[in-house]
Amino acid sequence: MLPYLKKAVTNLFKKPSTEAFPAGDPPKAAEGYRGRIHYDPTKCMNCGMCLRVCAPQCMHRDIEKLENGDQKVTFTFDMTSCTFCAMCADFCSSHAITMTDDYMIVGTKLEDFLVTGTMIKKAPPKPKFTPEQIAEMKAKAEAAKKAKAEAAQNG
Ligand code: SF4
Ligand code: SF4
Repeated sequence: MLPYLKKAVTNLFKKPSTEAFPAGDPPKAAEGYRGRIHYDPTKCMNCGMCLRVCAPQCMHRDIEKLENGDQKVTFTFDMTSCTFCAMCADFCSSHAITMTDDYMIVGTKLEDFLVTGTMIKKAPPKPKFTPEQIAEMKAKAEAAKKAKAEAAQNG
């Protein structure tokens, strides 16, 4: 008991053997290190390829329909289940996903580990004519064609 007590008392007056974290700037990650994902919604085409290739299914896409017909698309990447395989970045033809060298992925709540971004997908332009107008135009064209054929027959 006495040696342990002696050690404990001695250690009380010693400097900690561990380093405070973070102590200054963290060292740079090794070249090619795959850290926290960066998602740039301005480059995203909403093709969904990243969702298909993510084996742990750690990303999520929310689609909200807006009143004007556009869609509000939000991508969320959950770093707590990401394996940093970079498949999503490799398959993203528009380079909207990149792997950063940020390995300081620490936090106290789930939100600290989520990477999110939102884009607006514009609705396709509305057709100039209604289906009824198109049908009417077709009928008129058909009648004109018929009349022309009859006139040609009658000489
Ligand atoms: S991030 Fe890339 S792969 Fe994913 S939906 Fe957008 S464009 Fe497609
Ligand atoms: S790095 Fe891999 S595991 Fe992480 S989101 Fe991309 S595909 Fe999924």
